[in-house]
Amino acid sequence: MQHTQLFIDGEWRESRSAETIVVVNPATEDIIGSVSHARHADLDDAVSAAGKGFKIWRKMSPLDRSHIMRTAANLLRERINRIATVMTLEQGKPVAESKTEINASADILDWFAEEARRTYGRVVPARGEGIYNLVLKEPVGPVAAFTPWNFPISQAVRKLGAALAAGCSVIIKPPEETPASPAELVRALADAGLPKGVVNLVFGTPAEISSYLIAHPAIRKISFTGSTPVGKQLASLAGLHMKRITMELGGHAPAIIFDDADVKFAATVLAAGKYRNAGQVCIAPTRFLVQDALYEEFISEFVERTVALKLGNGFDEGVTIGPLANDRRQAALSSFVEDAVQSGAKVAAGGGRGQNKGYFFAPTVLIDVPTTARAMNEEPFGPLALIQRFKTFDDALEEANRLPFGLASYAYTRSIRNATAISAAIESGMLSINHYGLALPELPFGGVKDSGYGSEGGLEAVESYLATKFVSQASPAD
Ligand code: NAD
Repeated sequence: MQHTQLFIDGEWRESRSAETIVVVNPATEDIIGSVSHARHADLDDAVSAAGKGFKIWRKMSPLDRSHIMRTAANLLRERINRIATVMTLEQGKPVAESKTEINASADILDWFAEEARRTYGRVVPARGEGIYNLVLKEPVGPVAAFTPWNFPISQAVRKLGAALAAGCSVIIKPPEETPASPAELVRALADAGLPKGVVNLVFGTPAEISSYLIAHPAIRKISFTGSTPVGKQLASLAGLHMKRITMELGGHAPAIIFDDADVKFAATVLAAGKYRNAGQVCIAPTRFLVQDALYEEFISEFVERTVALKLGNGFDEGVTIGPLANDRRQAALSSFVEDAVQSGAKVAAGGGRGQNKGYFFAPTVLIDVPTTARAMNEEPFGPLALIQRFKTFDDALEEANRLPFGLASYAYTRSIRNATAISAAIESGMLSINHYGLALPELPFGGVKDSGYGSEGGLEAVESYLATKFVSQASPAD
């Protein structure tokens, strides 16, 4: 049994009320531990610690900040076997995927550590002699960050890395369902020498924590990753209190396979992207739009790769796809499939819960899915591939842009004309053509429309934790 504590002002501790929440293994449904439940009194402690931490961290040189972040990245790498076990136990993904996530998270931290040294301002030429127009970049202040359970460490490190690089302190609330792995990230930072109060870790009732922290005058910036409905609620609350925000929300990625594509390659890359983390990925390809001439062949290639997957406990040898992270997703996936079949879709692979115990759902391919099916409109967030045919470029584009989501999109084609036209017309924050090239730390990561705003990668990620101050300075008269 593993118990995860709060981390406030440099101390691991229980909540003042001593309340806890249970943690369940999604592969077995066994209770595997608990997490401390913070209430307002604990949040007050965290806010006051973040205020003190901010004063220290903002004054520390970017070079020193960078060293601490790099040391933490190396600690994650050294501890990878232990942390991967913790992650698979509470989240369900195969151990190899947990290790990939931890290594990627260490790389993200390294990248932000470097960016810490490049939070440049600029000097704008003045209109008079002896005047200096200085554009200065300053950390916005203490941040409240909310992260989800699909990538317990890498979702957290994208926010912590950018905030720490900018010189901000943070109160982070990772998911209560997978608390121990993000706590390991915080432990690595603390062990690397992060000053007290710079990062504070809380868990509890999400709505209670977000409404309290967003409204709190000491918190200057909000960053949230999760569903669009929750993101809209938090964005409106942040608007009421004039807080800066980054919102990384849901997606419903179209993958367009034109009739001149390399169909086997497209099926291989897209199946890997679809089923990674049991499909619980905001940028996972979901609506597969296949041009007439390749329709049957793509289905056959994609189904072949789907049925080759081995569903099971992430600790078992040879398992390539684990359970869903919680029972809500299992119920949601069942209802999406049932509704689509009633609307006229056909099941080409999978379709059901998979195993009796655990939150398993078989990787599923639905074909000829009508646009009216719920799954074609709401984010399935699971191992569900929806395949539809199209005739012309314009038909594909219309379907790709039909939904309010606009996070990731994919296209497969040998034609430069198709590639250029789709880049210009697609309504999404990210587009990957003829390969799977999203989510690296040095590249922008974010959506448009209902998928949110702001970026969690690239230069833009740090910028959103910086405020611009303009100083115009003249020499005093002699
Ligand atoms: P949900 O909308 O209840 O919660 C999503 C996340 O937001 C969770 O981590 C939760 O703890 C947090 N949350 C919920 N209400 C909150 C509040 N008032 N204040 C602060 N945080 C809050 O849904 P869920 O059942 O946990 O997940 C299902 C949906 O969430 C999926 O369909 C998907 O759209 C979305 N999701 C997106 C991502 C992503 O990477 N963008 C990750 C996980 C979940």
